[in-house]
Amino acid sequence: MTSLGQAAELFFEESAKIAGISDSLKSLLITPHRETRVEIPFLKDNGELQICIGYRIQHNRARGPMKGGLRYHHHVDADEVRGLAALMTWKTAVVDVPFGGAKGGITVDPRTLSIPEQERLTRRFVDEIHDIIGPDRDIPAPDMGTSPRTMAWIMNQYQKFHGFSPGCVTGKPVELYGAQGRTEATGRGVGIVTLALLRQFGKSVEGTSFAIQGFGNVGSFSAAWLYHSGARIIAISDISGAILNRDGIDIPAAQRHIETSGSLEGFDGGKAISNEDLLCLDADVLIPAALGNVITKDNAADIRAGFVIEAANGPVTPEADQLLQQRNIVVLPDILANAGGVTVSYFEWVQNQQYFRWDLSRVREELERSMTRAFDQVWSTSRERDVSLRTAAYLLAIDRVSRAVELGGF
Ligand code: GLU
Repeated sequence: MTSLGQAAELFFEESAKIAGISDSLKSLLITPHRETRVEIPFLKDNGELQICIGYRIQHNRARGPMKGGLRYHHHVDADEVRGLAALMTWKTAVVDVPFGGAKGGITVDPRTLSIPEQERLTRRFVDEIHDIIGPDRDIPAPDMGTSPRTMAWIMNQYQKFHGFSPGCVTGKPVELYGAQGRTEATGRGVGIVTLALLRQFGKSVEGTSFAIQGFGNVGSFSAAWLYHSGARIIAISDISGAILNRDGIDIPAAQRHIETSGSLEGFDGGKAISNEDLLCLDADVLIPAALGNVITKDNAADIRAGFVIEAANGPVTPEADQLLQQRNIVVLPDILANAGGVTVSYFEWVQNQQYFRWDLSRVREELERSMTRAFDQVWSTSRERDVSLRTAAYLLAIDRVSRAVELGGF
């Protein structure tokens, strides 16, 4: 199967061809600026030494300091981080926040570590990379397996070397220089652009059914926002399995169940099905909001939704993307659909740099404005150039990054 790194390159190449950029510019835009791989030894609670490998791949800095999350997952490798770093360059350009792109990660299953172990691992990682990150250089944020708490450790450890610098990382707890509304931002952004897309097809949220794969930060806040906007969400899932209820799942009840029991397992708001079955339900809208590479050439023919919203990074492989297009299934690409997170990360960074706090309503209004503007630009580009929404998003992003490269010179 195409890896996430290869997929990011293929999607870029396809659009770069349509954009008509030169081969040299193409290779400049595809080549990461810097790739860092570090060994991270740390002590387990039982006194044993564990060694993990960590990455920070800085893809492009033409439009500003590099920006992107940190992923703690046992699948993390250089290829995946490289692909995700490139996606960040295009994502920040699509929503037009003044950042470049980067991504980091540690190859570890954080569920196997206690909180103190996670803290020691994170601090040791910062010891290795503090010289290449920073508020004006490269600003990490949460991704899969990391949380506001992880970001607080990063800030604290970074400041031991560089002094007070809250803007060195975003997605921090609100009590520690984090922004109101950052945690909900990716899910909220997913909701905003999903409804904007449905409107273009003359559909309203009330008459539409949704299946959402993944109930982590992105999936749960997407589900909650859509539910409160009147959506009928017929299926949700997490690592323990999926739940189907054609009359609509009570999302607040599912959230309460997870808060008390830790997972969806045992939730009685619907019938248990598998994660694979969820992808192929006859819902109007399918929202993969968990891992990458879940819609592949093997199951693309079984997808029955008319719309696929890429709330996760890289959930649809390039082969599957072709097959979905042939079947007129509309895919809203990750670099637009899940850009609400990095947009509010930008608002957090601005507040940190200015020592000024915004209230929640300002964050939400500005997020809505940014996501709606980005959606409108992607939509009109796709109509004008007669290309898919993914290609349109890449065309916009490639144009913005290329202009910054050319204007800045070498
Ligand atoms: N990890 C998130 C993403 O993939 C957020 C990145 C950020 O806020 O910098 O977009």
